[in-house]
Amino acid sequence: MSTPPAAPSATASWAEAWLAALSAFSHPGRMRRGEHFARRKRIRHFEVKPGLISARVPEDDLTYEVRLQIKPLDDATWQKIVRHLASQALYSARLLAGEMPAEVAAVFASLDAPLFPAADALEASCTCPDWEVPCKHIAALYYLLAEKFEENPFLLFLARGRSKEQVLDQLRQERQLLQQRPAPAAGEEEGPEEKAPATPPLATQLDRFYTFDLAGDEMPFHIAPPATPMPHLRRLGRPSFTEIDLEALLAPIYQTLTEKALHWAFHDTPETA
Ligand SMILES: [Zn+2]
Repeated sequence: MSTPPAAPSATASWAEAWLAALSAFSHPGRMRRGEHFARRKRIRHFEVKPGLISARVPEDDLTYEVRLQIKPLDDATWQKIVRHLASQALYSARLLAGEMPAEVAAVFASLDAPLFPAADALEASCTCPDWEVPCKHIAALYYLLAEKFEENPFLLFLARGRSKEQVLDQLRQERQLLQQRPAPAAGEEEGPEEKAPATPPLATQLDRFYTFDLAGDEMPFHIAPPATPMPHLRRLGRPSFTEIDLEALLAPIYQTLTEKALHWAFHDTPETA
């Protein structure tokens, strides 16, 4: 039907990558009309569900229903993707902390399952009398989605069939399996943490136990607040033993600890508060 869109580069934003994928099979003039229309109108009742994005787009006194059916990726494909992401320690850590690394789209593409739909994976319809696709209402929804995907790229996962929670739960499980395994199987990628030099056994180091070989400035300290608050709690996910929202409960404590640690690290005078 048409050539599949190229994998978005790691530097393109999610909005740009989404619009680039659509431009591969949408008439440029119609896309521009949609862009102008999206700027002027407020799209209502916008909803993303697995395989379906819908919206109500008002024009004059009428409201049109726009539906985008996006082919969900099947279970086996999702499993392959999540396993691949789990094998990359850095991607896993960022995803589990609630961030979407730009490289994730390339992982989908490398496994022959592009995250952004090609023409044969997207079916758009609108209740307006315009028979051409995209009509300006559909194109307006494309532009609205560009904004939404930029704010929350996990909506792309949902459109492709998996909620953020589903993907992250599976990712946690795969990470646990990997960590329980004694050594990575042949051909499998190792995460950066597996490549760290082995620590020598304590028994061979007893004579040096109380010595310190590094000069002060050789000791690499990096003290900074985390890019995402409470990354470890987010990585671990909701505990099964309590209904309490631990993230909400512990947030002020983490915040205070972060402030105190930064104060101790960068101020000479002891804090009295
Ligand atoms: Zn329309």
